[in-house]
Amino acid sequence: MRKIVVLFDLDGTLVKAGGSGRKALNRAVVQLHAFEEVCSTFSLEGRMDRQNFRLALTSAIGRAPTRREVRAVEDAYLKLLPNEVRKAVKAGRYLEIPGVSKLLRALAKRKNVLLGLGTGNIREGAHIKLKPSGFLRYFTFGGYGRDGRSRAHMLRLAVGRAETLAGRRVSPADVRVIGDTARDVFAGRRSGYKTGIVIDGYGDVDAIRRAKPDLLEPDFRDTRRWLDWILR
Ligand SMILES: [Mg+2]
Repeated sequence: MRKIVVLFDLDGTLVKAGGSGRKALNRAVVQLHAFEEVCSTFSLEGRMDRQNFRLALTSAIGRAPTRREVRAVEDAYLKLLPNEVRKAVKAGRYLEIPGVSKLLRALAKRKNVLLGLGTGNIREGAHIKLKPSGFLRYFTFGGYGRDGRSRAHMLRLAVGRAETLAGRRVSPADVRVIGDTARDVFAGRRSGYKTGIVIDGYGDVDAIRRAKPDLLEPDFRDTRRWLDWILR
């Protein structure tokens, strides 16, 4: 049976975690380097966590950080993140992207679909951010923020894990990368994967249009259209 690999980005694609990642990173940098609001000095969207941690540290300390300094920010971030996610949920700032839970349910029923994450979040951070949504149960594998040198490389590693699970090769034309920024498009296309983008996330709409994803939708409410494109 032909297998289709579907990789979902997390932030702005599955959920909006109410800025909890940004807040946790800001607080981590305050704790370690007494530098306030570091995330206002650059844009985090669509990047790998490690890159964001490095950019934040470079802003805060005025030079490229050492590995140990990046690791320390990562540890602090993971300690602070659960509370930021809890606060976002409590304040009603934790939102699912419209229609995504219905689409996930429909895809989970398909025997020929392998559902995975393709996210810049480090694995523990991804799990913390997704926990309130209940979506974690849909994802049996994934690519995360510590996987590979770039977003494109992370996606290829995720597909490799899908192939291990399936016990067979998957053609790049049978991989769907679903995200909310132009970076998702560029990273997926680099390996010949098809890309579908939602405008409801955090991406810059003009940049997304210029990137020319294979499917562009406001959100996931048109389940039929998404399924037709994914299963084509
Ligand atoms: Mg995103």
